[in-house]
Amino acid sequence: MADATTAAATAGSSAASAPAAAPSGNFLTSMLGENSGFLENPLFTGGMGLMVLGAVVALGRTGIVQGSQFLQRQLLVDLEIASKDRSYAWFLEWMSHHPQRSSRHLAVQTTVKQHASGSFTTQFSLVPGPGRHLIRYKGAFMLVKRERSNRLLDMNSGSPFETITLTTLYRDRYVFQELLAEAQQRAQKMQAGKTVIYTSFGPEWRPFGQPRRKRELDSVILDKGVSESIVEDVNDFLKNSQWYHDRGIPYRRGYLLYGPPGSGKSSFIQALAGELDYNICILNLAEATLTDDRLNHLMNHVPERTFLLLEDIDSAFNERKQSADQGYHSGVTFSGLLNALDGVASAEERIIFMTTNHPERLDPALIRPGRVDFKECIDNATEYQAEKMFMRFFPGEEKLCNEFIQTLKANNKLVSTAQMQGLFVMNKTDPVGAIHMAQYLPENEGTP
Ligand code: ADP
Repeated sequence: MADATTAAATAGSSAASAPAAAPSGNFLTSMLGENSGFLENPLFTGGMGLMVLGAVVALGRTGIVQGSQFLQRQLLVDLEIASKDRSYAWFLEWMSHHPQRSSRHLAVQTTVKQHASGSFTTQFSLVPGPGRHLIRYKGAFMLVKRERSNRLLDMNSGSPFETITLTTLYRDRYVFQELLAEAQQRAQKMQAGKTVIYTSFGPEWRPFGQPRRKRELDSVILDKGVSESIVEDVNDFLKNSQWYHDRGIPYRRGYLLYGPPGSGKSSFIQALAGELDYNICILNLAEATLTDDRLNHLMNHVPERTFLLLEDIDSAFNERKQSADQGYHSGVTFSGLLNALDGVASAEERIIFMTTNHPERLDPALIRPGRVDFKECIDNATEYQAEKMFMRFFPGEEKLCNEFIQTLKANNKLVSTAQMQGLFVMNKTDPVGAIHMAQYLPENEGTP
């Protein structure tokens, strides 16, 4: 075989040197003139030789590149996950916990939530950053390339468009399916028995931190029958989708829980979501960057089986009014909120909760039926609630409970359930201490 190759090469070269030389010589001679002497010039012929060699090398290199690309196409297989796809977040989360990986570029994902009190909660999670990473999954090696586009913006989130490309051997292509299923199952498992809290990020909803453990409904102690009446109303609403559809009424229900701070409004909504297996989207209307358009978009893109919670609904319109003369929105306008509420339409049910400490400040237009269908006052602690809370913290202490109630009566102040919880937490194992401190509880805001 080697001989044959050599023979062919020799034959080729001799063929080139004998008959083929003549026309090329003739051509050059005719181009350069018989007596130009260029062909005898060693510098000229050397230069020509180098040119030919260069062309051959360039051709060879292109051939190798194309060949390797061809081989890559034949042997490797890619999977692209775009940032707007739901599996994008699942994959990042999955990979940040995958043991067999080599990652030198990590990115931090920080979630910050501002509470009504003005305080912040921050959470960090380390995920694979833009760049290349190598992982091994079920015996298959996989190159993970996370890329961020400098030019393209995700129209949904307003953030740079990103993609993750997974590359593996063609024969291992089946692991993609398994990997994605595992990532999804992991995300589901993290959420099982938990409530996902979403906050707005640009025009989209993003989970805020890790899903929270469901809160038992009976751990939120409301006045007699209050909890039951809300639960009954929501259940009744959820059972009657056909009724709404038959009458062409938008299938949504608005609830307003009002009352002094610390009476358990937010806690109850969270517990109710847990009870019904719902998640919660919390929207802060006082957020500086929220505009009417964004509000409308967010309210119409609430994930399935999720309550929309508008907290402290009165605070949004106190100081920030749209400046008509400046001609731009400095935040959400009142009419923008009404439009967004009216426009909330979806094939699925939509349940909106609003809370306020100051119902007297609400415009009647906001709470008219259709926007708010069920109003409930969640007030300071009644004797019924105080008793139930005491017995929950100190089971079996009926006598002391009675003493506790008498102390509260003698103190004669409006006390919230949150204040009571604080008292019991401070005196976890000391009901007598709790009773003693109860006489000094300061007065809470009342319901106007
Ligand atoms: P609100 O939303 O009415 O201001 P929160 O639900 O935020 O009140 O309550 C603040 C804290 O007080 C929470 O930790 C909650 O557990 C506790 N709390 C308030 N009211 C109740 C209640 N009725 N039953 C049990 N816990 C309560």
